[in-house]
Amino acid sequence: MKYKETKLNNNIKKAIDELGYIEQTKIQEKTLDLILARKNVVAMASTGSGKTAAFMLPIINNIDVFNKVTQALIITPTRELAIQIVQETRKFCKYMQGINSIAIYGGQELKPQAISLRRGVNIVVATLGRALDLISKKILKLQNVTTLVLDEADEMLSMGFYKEIENILKNINKNTQKLLFSATIDSRVKDIVNKNIKNSIYIECKDNDSLLVDSIRQIAIDVKEKMKNECVFRILKKEKAKNSIIFCNTKKKTEDVYRFLLSKKVKLEMLNSDIYQKEREKILKRLKQGKLDTIVVTDVLARGIDIEDLELVINYDIPFENEYYVHRVGRTARKGRSGVAYTLYVGKQKDRIRELEEYTKTKMIYEDVPLEKNIEDDEIKYPVSKRGLYIITFSLGKKDGIKAKDIVGAIESLTGIKSEKIGLIQINEEDSIVEVPKEYVGEITSTFLNSKIKGKNVHIIK
Ligand code: ADP
Ligand code: MG
Repeated sequence: MKYKETKLNNNIKKAIDELGYIEQTKIQEKTLDLILARKNVVAMASTGSGKTAAFMLPIINNIDVFNKVTQALIITPTRELAIQIVQETRKFCKYMQGINSIAIYGGQELKPQAISLRRGVNIVVATLGRALDLISKKILKLQNVTTLVLDEADEMLSMGFYKEIENILKNINKNTQKLLFSATIDSRVKDIVNKNIKNSIYIECKDNDSLLVDSIRQIAIDVKEKMKNECVFRILKKEKAKNSIIFCNTKKKTEDVYRFLLSKKVKLEMLNSDIYQKEREKILKRLKQGKLDTIVVTDVLARGIDIEDLELVINYDIPFENEYYVHRVGRTARKGRSGVAYTLYVGKQKDRIRELEEYTKTKMIYEDVPLEKNIEDDEIKYPVSKRGLYIITFSLGKKDGIKAKDIVGAIESLTGIKSEKIGLIQINEEDSIVEVPKEYVGEITSTFLNSKIKGKNVHIIK
């Protein structure tokens, strides 16, 4: 996410913008809201991944500038690191009036540090040894510390400071927010966390991190081309999302889907290049205001769309380019929310799905077309046979030279529903009656909206 879209205050945003921080790094993105919300966070990310800003920016944001006491204590393994962190902190605070910070470490006289601390310093960055020394001398006071950070915890532990770290954790208020940052999380780190940090949230960022956040449930559905509209409809029904976006590869498809869903009484809009600019802007505005449930779009038009809390993305087609997949799916689960993204594929296209999994370094969940039972009963008005199957009437009969096996064959080849699922078939002179299980009614009726059997146009009469 872009820093300017985060919850940080404008003074911080201005400062980091000047530093050239535009996009958050992965670890920054994953931890910001949690730290702002004062959760205990145990975060692992490799060196150079931006851990300092990950904890310091929300800390600065949470500081009460009118309270001249130590509110944040950051413990580091080395002097150099303490100095560097304070230098960075001061840059982050460039436009924050009244926040001050200090580095304290061994090898310096205690006195000047003590004087500064007594005057009141909001953010103290200290090496472990010196911090313990000043705490025991009651110069560094912990009672107002609302956030404690153990930076490079693995480093401190490998220097043999287990007891010292535990000592700090034991001296700090129970409800002080505790953050632990580390390049690795080994058993010693886990041990110290389990014993001393309650309710901690683990965040891991691997080097080869995936292109999409974990909070997106990605689902792939194998579906016959003719079933796609119905499948989209069922997904909408099943997910009951507050708002959703459906991506199609072509303008023609957006129109198809749009018409189909309208006929199913879905409240929706369509955006493609045929719709003139003014109207597009209006539609987008309504979507952003949450006044639209669903929108059907092509990629070209989707680029400019940035809707904050989109819950559901449906890929009617697999996009031609992998990048577009990330672009489309990334529209959901923003700002730490969760989201769902469905991708419809037809048979052999499974290879493309696998390719996408590889490209995004994420896994998809393979599901079947949602069943009819997720849809309210009153939408199905077909008669029910003695065997409890639904009775559908096709518009072709004996006069058209149709036999039962033609119908079963057409159903199987167009929808994938196996012949053994179909009940009795009765071929009349003018039409044919077919028994089908309830969960397949939607599939069959939508497929035969405009199909042929033995080269003859067919539709469902009732
Ligand atoms: P770590 O603690 O993971 O080793 P640092 O916090 O020291 O990483 O950050 C590494 C470098 O990346 C620093 O020079 C820092 O200024 C820079 N940096 C951090 N976050 C961003 C960002 N979002 N955009 C650009 N540069 C960043
Ligand atoms: Mg660091």
